[in-house]
Amino acid sequence: MGRLNIVTWPDPVLARDCDPVGEIDASLRRLAEDMLATLYAAEGRGLAAPQVGQPLRLFVMDTEWKERAPAPRIFINPEITWTSPETQAFEEGCLSIPGILARVERPAQIHMRWTEIDGSAQEADLHGFDAICAQHELDHLDGIVTLDRVDRQMRLALIEEYNA
Ligand code: ZN
Repeated sequence: MGRLNIVTWPDPVLARDCDPVGEIDASLRRLAEDMLATLYAAEGRGLAAPQVGQPLRLFVMDTEWKERAPAPRIFINPEITWTSPETQAFEEGCLSIPGILARVERPAQIHMRWTEIDGSAQEADLHGFDAICAQHELDHLDGIVTLDRVDRQMRLALIEEYNA
């Protein structure tokens, strides 16, 4: 497995609406494996394909490896099909905006559908940090970063901090 370069904001690939994954072939499996290697090397919990310069609807996530054993997950063409009215706010970091934490409020629970790396259809309810992380990564596939999820004043303050 190889590590990939992580693209940092404001690279335009982070603002793109990403393309659906077509065939799950050897190169896509390789990309997913490399993204997981990159995620662990960067000590992150989620990484989306545009963050390594690939505008595809794919992200990887492991929300537990720091506390428990590694449990890598790969989400292809994910879709959120339900969100709870209850919300939760969390100080979200992003490997593409190093050093910046942005307080983002999101639905506390979601139902998500996706395709697994073996091509099978999967769906699940996610809550807690899993729901936060999955929504953050899915935002990347729509060209949205945390800076787009805060108000204008906070956005300017965070960009100033980022550029300092
Ligand atoms: Zn991110």
